[in-house]
Amino acid sequence: MHPVAVLLHTPAYSQMAGALTYLSLQPLPPGTLVRVPLGSRELLGVVWDSAAPNPATPALDPAKLRPIAAALLDLPPLSTRWRALITFAASYYQRSAGEVALAALPPQLRDLTSVQLARRLNRPVSKPVSPGTPAPASPTVATATALNMKRPVRGELVEPLGLQNSPLESVTSAGPAQLQANGFAIRGDHQRLPVGHEGNQQLAEAQPDQNRAGGTECAIDNVALTAEQARAIAQFHSNGGPFLLFGATGSGKTEVFMRCTADLLAANPHSQALVMVPEINLTPQLEARFKARFGALYGDAAVVSMHSGMTPPQRLRSWLAAHQGKARIVLGTRMAVFASMPHLKLIVVDEEHDPSYKSHEGARYSARDLAIYRGRLEGAKVLLGSATPSLESWYHSRPAAEGGRYLRLDMPSRVGTHAVVPAALGSMPLTAGSLPLTAGRPPQVAGTLPLVRRVDMNHQPKGCVISPPLLDAIGQRIARGEQSMVFLNRRGYAPVLSCDACDWKSTCPHCSAYRVFHKIDRTLRCHHCGFTERVPRACPDCGNLDIAPVGRGTERLEEHLAQLLADSRRPDGNPVHIARIDADTTRFKGSLEMQLAQVHSGEVDVLVGTQMIAKGHDFRRITLVAAVNPDSALFSSDFRAPERLFSLLMQAAGRAGRDASNTSRSEMWVQTFHPTHPLFEALKRHDFPAFAQSQLVDRQQAGMPPFSFQALVRAEARTQEAAQAFLNLASQASAGLLQAAQLLPHITLYPAVPMNIARIADIERAQMLVESPSRTALQRFLSAWQAVLHTSRSQPECKGLIRWAIDVDPLLI
Ligand code: ADP
Ligand code: ZN
Ligand code: ZN
Repeated sequence: MHPVAVLLHTPAYSQMAGALTYLSLQPLPPGTLVRVPLGSRELLGVVWDSAAPNPATPALDPAKLRPIAAALLDLPPLSTRWRALITFAASYYQRSAGEVALAALPPQLRDLTSVQLARRLNRPVSKPVSPGTPAPASPTVATATALNMKRPVRGELVEPLGLQNSPLESVTSAGPAQLQANGFAIRGDHQRLPVGHEGNQQLAEAQPDQNRAGGTECAIDNVALTAEQARAIAQFHSNGGPFLLFGATGSGKTEVFMRCTADLLAANPHSQALVMVPEINLTPQLEARFKARFGALYGDAAVVSMHSGMTPPQRLRSWLAAHQGKARIVLGTRMAVFASMPHLKLIVVDEEHDPSYKSHEGARYSARDLAIYRGRLEGAKVLLGSATPSLESWYHSRPAAEGGRYLRLDMPSRVGTHAVVPAALGSMPLTAGSLPLTAGRPPQVAGTLPLVRRVDMNHQPKGCVISPPLLDAIGQRIARGEQSMVFLNRRGYAPVLSCDACDWKSTCPHCSAYRVFHKIDRTLRCHHCGFTERVPRACPDCGNLDIAPVGRGTERLEEHLAQLLADSRRPDGNPVHIARIDADTTRFKGSLEMQLAQVHSGEVDVLVGTQMIAKGHDFRRITLVAAVNPDSALFSSDFRAPERLFSLLMQAAGRAGRDASNTSRSEMWVQTFHPTHPLFEALKRHDFPAFAQSQLVDRQQAGMPPFSFQALVRAEARTQEAAQAFLNLASQASAGLLQAAQLLPHITLYPAVPMNIARIADIERAQMLVESPSRTALQRFLSAWQAVLHTSRSQPECKGLIRWAIDVDPLLI
């Protein structure tokens, strides 16, 4: 019997962190997936590189070791590079390697027996080997059955739905009617998908002609690249990267991603590319584009998706295709950064600034940062793209002579327009209250991007929500048959209900937050814990009948606009159609797509929504975008708030005038009480570099990232005192660390404070910021400090502590 080290899904701080030793009849190479007994359960594990024997620890007593239950030898082992990525991620984000490794595998893999796996892999089921048979050279033979250990009962009983009997070929030949008869839903009808069937994907695969004949996408292959695109691609090929593609919205970044992918895939028949996008909502769009382009070359099966909106069988299928090298392109959200791709040659991170690349549970990894690391490990090129890069990436892409490590590729102009100020702007009447457009926009971006108008709310009627000039501008759009988009980053009708007579407010009994008034179903809903009640008829405290909404969310904005625009008529004489898109209107699967389709078809005149509508979607007919109330982010305690606001407004502005024939008229309106704020000045000029520069200067002076490195320790407890006591005790105890004298001079430990929302669902939350000018010092401190945190929890003051976690490079502070 051979001892093998096996990683299991164990928390960072259990006695079992690190690999456990099991016995196997045959030696198993690291990376092999195995099933092993743990207590009375049987778990999926990964054979790990065994640590060098430590003379200090007594030798393991083989008699006490348990044998593995099965080895999934039908699967090639996970590569050395994949394991190195896991090891790095675990140590950098202060979690156990087992947790990170197992979380990175598709959940359904846990339940699969080797027999089922073999079936899944379209291979004959391996013949059992009898114990004592020499280890087979070929990985197609499973020892699982041979080892006749406890059989995995659960997996045997539950044959994953949809794994068998869904050969794509038979579907492919069927028409839509046939598909529906077979239980496949028609597009957009996600609700009716049979569990476990990859309805959407199969349907997409089933209609290759429709996908490809879409024309536009195929045609683009033949479309000449813009000079900027051609230059970016040439630079990509002649340099090693990592690259930051800094391209205006509509500059054709996706086309660059696709060409770079195409070139690398064509150069090597095995090579694979990973393309990441921030949101699940954006994957179908991208998948369609990539399938249209690459399906024709490599077959539709060569492009797979990976995101949390997929069913377990879908995820397993994609994962296997990537792991076996059958998938040439993996499109996915942040989780895809861990996809096993043995021939990875390119990682694209679209909208690299997007906060959703950072995980906020388990290992709080940044998929963007791991992409950079992984690229180096794998020898794969890394291409980050954004119109408003994160300040970290922007800083890294400063000139190499100044220490920059990324190569910046600039694409300042929009596709299909010329970099001149459209004549129409000169004659545009300036509406009262809006600041005149000043000259001096950087010439390379002028003209093709929308005109930014700031409305000084200090000079508007008191309490108005939509200023008269903005209303007028929207009215003009409606009359011309153009669309407007108005966004407000708060859903619901009003953020709080309040009683005039006493001090009652619609606080959530379980959270330190107000419950939001949703008029549509007359509920008060807590957006943090979900606690929902009917709106009381009268004030619960004093009985006053007059309880009133305070403030405004998208629901109320929609209602308000409907009143203001009641008399407006579309060119066809019909009344205005106002639609709203936010988390409330898109709760059901498919509803977002449906609503977006309405916007695209031109049915909608005014679209109201949260930031959800500001991102990514390509609205061609929108010629006016308005941010109604963006000011709060200017004065937030979170030092990243201005960065997020700027990026959001730039993204939103980028929605306007995507159709070249409309660009001359398109406008971005910002209602603000601080019209001369530098952020809006830079926005007006579409000048991200200037904004970034001013932010970086501020951050350098304040010693903030990227000029320092941070980690947050968050603690949750029954009482705020316990949460804070735990953090403060651990902080004090760090003085007792063995390496304290070396490390502590480089580390600042701030006092524990309640989190912004101190209580959610009756749990009190506190946090402590740890900062260092040196990433290495911070890393070394955190690894040493983990043990201290762990032991602090047993102090009497910490009674009631529920959990704690370290967040390295936190985004929200
Ligand atoms: P970005 O991602 O930079 O915002 P996209 O990649 O979505 O921009 O491109 C904007 C639009 O321009 C898309 O409709 C795309 O099909 C089109 N496009 C991209 N490159 C070209 C080109 N070279 N010639 C013509 N149209 C292009
Ligand atoms: Zn009252
Ligand atoms: Zn609540």
